[in-house]
Amino acid sequence: MIPGSRVPLFALIMAYVIAGALLARPLLAEPAPTPARSQHPLLMAPRPSPTAIGARISAMAGVTGVTRQPEPTTPEEPTAMPTATPTPTPRPVQVLRSCPIDGDMDLLSAAPIHIVFDQPMDTDPSSVVWSITPTLESRVEWLAPEHLLVRTVPREDGVQYRFVLEVARSREGGDLERPLALRFGQGGMGAPIPILMYHHIDLLDGTEPADTLEWTVSPQQFVAHLNLLEELGAHVVSLGEAVDYLQRGEPLPPRPVVLTFDDGNPCAYENAVPALRERGLTATFFVCPAYIGDYNVLSWEQLRHLVEDGFTIGAHGYQHVKVHALSPAEAEVQFGLAKRRLEEETGAQVEFFAYPFGWFSRRAAAQLAAYGYRAALTINPWGYQKPADLMYLNRIRMAYGEPADELRYKLPW
Ligand SMILES: [Zn+2]
Repeated sequence: MIPGSRVPLFALIMAYVIAGALLARPLLAEPAPTPARSQHPLLMAPRPSPTAIGARISAMAGVTGVTRQPEPTTPEEPTAMPTATPTPTPRPVQVLRSCPIDGDMDLLSAAPIHIVFDQPMDTDPSSVVWSITPTLESRVEWLAPEHLLVRTVPREDGVQYRFVLEVARSREGGDLERPLALRFGQGGMGAPIPILMYHHIDLLDGTEPADTLEWTVSPQQFVAHLNLLEELGAHVVSLGEAVDYLQRGEPLPPRPVVLTFDDGNPCAYENAVPALRERGLTATFFVCPAYIGDYNVLSWEQLRHLVEDGFTIGAHGYQHVKVHALSPAEAEVQFGLAKRRLEEETGAQVEFFAYPFGWFSRRAAAQLAAYGYRAALTINPWGYQKPADLMYLNRIRMAYGEPADELRYKLPW
């Protein structure tokens, strides 16, 4: 009986010793408690005081009493128990869109700062560090895991602010590829959103009348413009996106640019649209319904194809007439009927107008607004747009034979 009882007792003692040793291992392997800041070294990097203010506000907006956050995925994790799969390196975070865009000196006064990332982010307020100079009280909130909002107290007209997003982290743990810096202000010369204006895209022999040369670029020139835009890091956006930014403060990609074609010339359809489709770019075509399907004007079918491919159709008058001094009856035709015909035939909503010959007036702008147009385009050669001038947007034109380098000088960036 004694040997029989000794064995279980011995086993019990051994089990106790082994269990004690096993329990002690993780405790011994556990790193000494470290303050949370050491897990986020960038948060503690020296920086100017406005950033510290931003960081403090972000910490205040979040969970209080965050002193120690052991995160199982941090590099400090004990390695005594190796896991089966190695953690992949997190992708660096890119900013896709923002409001303001860099250099906008006439941002809507009430617009918050928007930043749209390319991936879901860690929405803990302590993982975002930003600064605004001159200092503005501000706080962050997340509209979506990819969409950060920074609200500020009212800004002053005529002051140039600088917003810098220094730290933001993805859910996977990736850091910003580079800090985001945006200069902006209110009441200044406008947002750098050039709208390029084209009419004919055709090959000429150069002996044509000056008027023809002025309103035509060659297919090669057009492709050179697209190449230049790409080289400059520009992003072609739709006219609707540009107007949404100006009117509602919705975010845009950096260096946004809009492409427009007036008059519905088939050569533009044949020579420019394939290059745009190839690159996945969009544009707006301004046409006069009275001439659709006529000799040398796009057909309704071609316009419907453009709409199907994501292009925008705008009105250019019912007929191609000056619209700066129309009677109500004339406005009904040039603005009202033009819009209705285009909408009936293409199924798309028509919200934009281009003034034939570039002739505009306050009266025409008021009439257009009454007919439901959101914006109208002039031929005033300037690469900036002001939110108060949605009915007088500027456009840049290039003439036949002008090298693409000339376009570079006309662009605002
Ligand atoms: Zn025209």
